[in-house]
Amino acid sequence: MSDRPIFRLTALGTGTAAPEPDTAASGLLLQAGETAILFDCGAGVAPRLQQALGAERLSAVVIGHQHADHWIDLAPMRYRFAWGERATPRLPVYLPPGGSERLTPLAFAISERPSFFVDTYDVREYVSEEAFAVGPITVRPVPVQHYVPAWTMDITGPRGERIVYGGDMGPTEATVELARGADLLILEATLETSVGDDPRRGHLTTEEAIDMARRAGAKHTWLVHFRTARREIITRMCAESGLDITPALPFQRIELGR
Ligand SMILES: [Zn+2]
Ligand SMILES: [Zn+2]
Repeated sequence: MSDRPIFRLTALGTGTAAPEPDTAASGLLLQAGETAILFDCGAGVAPRLQQALGAERLSAVVIGHQHADHWIDLAPMRYRFAWGERATPRLPVYLPPGGSERLTPLAFAISERPSFFVDTYDVREYVSEEAFAVGPITVRPVPVQHYVPAWTMDITGPRGERIVYGGDMGPTEATVELARGADLLILEATLETSVGDDPRRGHLTTEEAIDMARRAGAKHTWLVHFRTARREIITRMCAESGLDITPALPFQRIELGR
């Protein structure tokens, strides 16, 4: 029996950019012992994080891309921390390359303090394909096709467990390869149909997500980033696929490494 901590993932938000009554936009809380990482911090995630753990107990935040439904709740979350002196230590917030240039105007727009975020957040920018460690968890951001620059997170836990968090993406062969044999693959299932999506695809239909999961062969796949009204049909499509795939439910928890 290993004394290394269990890898625990909680879905804080399963919705899209459109507000839903029962869930937030994108947000996943990953914990291993005392280490806790929030992946994405979309609208509605900050209060749910307080319910599940508390921003004060986070070890880091990692943002996959800078659409509002993946990072805008960094603003309300900041109010969980003290005003005045610069916090020590500050909470590491990993943004995409160039991301801090977008954070500064947001501070000006919503606060009288230009240092609104940086007094509390240790803002860092990750480098594409370059892994970084947060406690016993390793995170490697891998670029993926979306409407804006976006990254899939290749996450390795304390016992070598692997989670691939796709983030927003069009159909991406590289993610299928990346997720081969992963313990958990998390894919978006935003679209009802691909008709109307940009020619350079930026989201997945449920059929496309299930197809990617089938070809990747991950042990389990969670679907996220869908309208609540579609949960029932997505549940049915997952069941009919014959795969170990389910839509994530708000506050649903998965433990790996037992
Ligand atoms: Zn997006
Ligand atoms: Zn999104």
